[in-house]
Amino acid sequence: MCRHGFCPPFIVVIGEGDETILELIETIAKGADVKQVAGIAYRDGEQVTLTAPRSPLGQFDTIPNFSLIEGYPMMNSLNILLQRKKPWVTVQSSRGCRYNCSFCIVNTMFPNGYRIRNIESVICDLRDKRKYGKDLMFVDNEFTAYPSHTKKLLRRMIKEKFDFNIFVFARVGVVNDDELLSLMRRAGVGYIYQGYESILTENLKFFNKGQTYTQIIKAIEKLHSFGFSIMGSFILGAESDSLQSIRATADFVVERKLASATFFTLWGHFPEKSKGYETIIPWYRSIFLGWRYCNGHFVTHFPLKIPPSILQREIPKIYRKIYSPKQVLRAFKNGKFREARHKILLRYLWHFIEKEIEAYIPFLEEIEDGLYDSNGNLCEELLIQRVKKNPRWTFLYGNQTIQALGLTPPEFPFLEKHDIICHPRKKDSSLPSS
Ligand code: SF4
Repeated sequence: MCRHGFCPPFIVVIGEGDETILELIETIAKGADVKQVAGIAYRDGEQVTLTAPRSPLGQFDTIPNFSLIEGYPMMNSLNILLQRKKPWVTVQSSRGCRYNCSFCIVNTMFPNGYRIRNIESVICDLRDKRKYGKDLMFVDNEFTAYPSHTKKLLRRMIKEKFDFNIFVFARVGVVNDDELLSLMRRAGVGYIYQGYESILTENLKFFNKGQTYTQIIKAIEKLHSFGFSIMGSFILGAESDSLQSIRATADFVVERKLASATFFTLWGHFPEKSKGYETIIPWYRSIFLGWRYCNGHFVTHFPLKIPPSILQREIPKIYRKIYSPKQVLRAFKNGKFREARHKILLRYLWHFIEKEIEAYIPFLEEIEDGLYDSNGNLCEELLIQRVKKNPRWTFLYGNQTIQALGLTPPEFPFLEKHDIICHPRKKDSSLPSS
């Protein structure tokens, strides 16, 4: 126990912590009771207590001062001279998002909506961050959501003569403004992360993404013509995804010469407030073995057109394809050394993730056994019967949250009869019988 009865790791700041953290540190420094700090949770022995909720934050112009963190490494002269790489530094110029994609939690994370930060505050922050590194990531969900504001910020950055290598997140619509793209290049933006999510029109509609396949292609071509490197992001396992579409997505990344790509499995079981507490995937199709499997690498639901284990096996294969020696060589040949190095690094990292995935696959094979027909279609009736008898392995926290909120508990749907014939399940004592 520390001096005040609460060791710092036992206090959690909830939500946007810009103001809370200052008040919390002052309270601890004064030796006062942390109970009076709104917007935190703290543990006292076995008891976890939530303090009063904090009113949502409006502006967020506070400039973090890293020099207050003991031992935080600065770029010294030798590092600067040798251009030695330091970890990415991050800055935020806007918070929240103006869009409402069905799989995304951004509007629950930032219930106060989309806000932009004062440009001078961003510039001061950038000056300070340059002391700590040259690789900069703007952690805005959509860096170009207000193009006129983004242009003002970029012009100020150009005037300051910053020499950052910049990474930003931007939707495909960014390519409709050439002036914006030119300013981004001049300010040092080299890498753009774009959420393509899917190459299937049905999935893009299901995700409420507000973009089409044609717009995706146009965006890639335009960004390449301006010299940007692109990281594409995709969500796997949506209602229209099949083994063919998953493989076609991997081919798409290679053929369209994306510098890199991320593939997240769909995780749609938490009832989001911004979506009327409806989950994107019905709760009885959820698979929950533990929180460690909810990081986007593991399949945590029963997709309609591909068994979970087959989708899961496919993910490492995609990464092996897009970060293959052939792709590394291609990047080298094109003089894209950063890109080549990045591919090598990610291939190396995936070597470790694959091991965990391999260990998870037998669990998926066990719980999906007998639930898919020979074409890989889910027999929902069988799943429902099984879950009705025993909801083990479903994401019960989702249901509990709905009930705690006083909402009607989810019902099983009435399914229309169809002619899918499913194989009988093997006998398995660890799973509920159907
Ligand atoms: S996926 Fe991107 S664009 Fe869509 S809501 Fe989330 S942050 Fe906004």
